[in-house]
Amino acid sequence: MNASAGSAGLARYAAQSAGTRGRRYQEPAALTRSDFQRDRDRIVHSTAFRRLEYKTQVFLNHEGDLFRTRLTHSIEVAQIARSIARALGLDEDLVEAISLAHDLGHTPFGHAGQDALNACMRDHGGFEHNLQSLRVVDELEQRYGGFDGLNLCFETREGILKHCSAANARRLGELGERFLLGLQPSLEAQVANLADEIAYNNHDVDDGLRSGLITLEQLQQVDLFAAHADVVSARYPAIAERRLVHETVRRMIDELVGDLLAETQRRIAAAAPGSLDEVRRAGPLVAFSAPMRERSQRLKSFLHAHLYRHPQVETVMDQARRAVHTLFDAYRDDDRLLPDEHRERAQHLGARAIADYIAGMTDRFALKELARIGADQT
Ligand code: MG
Repeated sequence: MNASAGSAGLARYAAQSAGTRGRRYQEPAALTRSDFQRDRDRIVHSTAFRRLEYKTQVFLNHEGDLFRTRLTHSIEVAQIARSIARALGLDEDLVEAISLAHDLGHTPFGHAGQDALNACMRDHGGFEHNLQSLRVVDELEQRYGGFDGLNLCFETREGILKHCSAANARRLGELGERFLLGLQPSLEAQVANLADEIAYNNHDVDDGLRSGLITLEQLQQVDLFAAHADVVSARYPAIAERRLVHETVRRMIDELVGDLLAETQRRIAAAAPGSLDEVRRAGPLVAFSAPMRERSQRLKSFLHAHLYRHPQVETVMDQARRAVHTLFDAYRDDDRLLPDEHRERAQHLGARAIADYIAGMTDRFALKELARIGADQT
């Protein structure tokens, strides 16, 4: 493909670190790192990033040592996204920064925690983990003398904000504009978004099989899985099950990435964007082919039906939802239960400060808090 070089050997349609729309607070440039490298490094050093280690992806953090956590999920997303970015001549540092930050706003207990917190916040503007990720990097991290948050570049923040309601978009000013005008984010943001999907579909197959909640026999109905499992079984007739699973999953990831690259290169060649601004005005350029989108969708539907809504998962998630409601109600009814710093914020910000506090908790910290406030967890 014709990836005519921009700065640092990147394609002209890549986000250019030297041409960033900048940070909210001006800072002198770093001595040895580009602005996007610096963003990635700030994310890795943040408190919210370390918390991802103890936050649920699908299986609760204490259910087993080998399941993905939000941290290993984010690292897998970054790995897949970087490979795609390199092949397309995009900025790998930006794609890595977005990938590592994309789930910083997740509550404890995965999607059950987010649903519960959203319900608690119904009369206070709701709770959305994607918007919360932006809130973490813009406001909640407290590490720098001169400003709240991590003071990241516009392009990194734009990539973190995957979706957004019109009301929130209006409130977010320049960052929200694209949702009101129907514009696209950078290709780096589009890559991180689909790398997220590739990562979770594949690692959830692996974790689901490891947990025993789904089986190889059931996965025979998913053509994307079955096609590769058949090839692996034919090539290695005596292969042990764990190796069969890994060999199959790595082939699925390869095929998904290969398809995504081919379709994206085709779209880029057709639209021929000469700059990031032209990328913003083009339609979505990073995409699977139509047949692969369908196959991937069938895998997703399978995981929804058989894993995410498995009765055993649902039971645990019900407990998680109740835990979040109990914590929220307890803090709202008696703010003396909050640590000083969060009590002060609650006096200014009301329920939003409580949501920020709960969203920042790891699974095990939330359970400790439940025990501390003397609530019955079951
Ligand atoms: Mg994710």
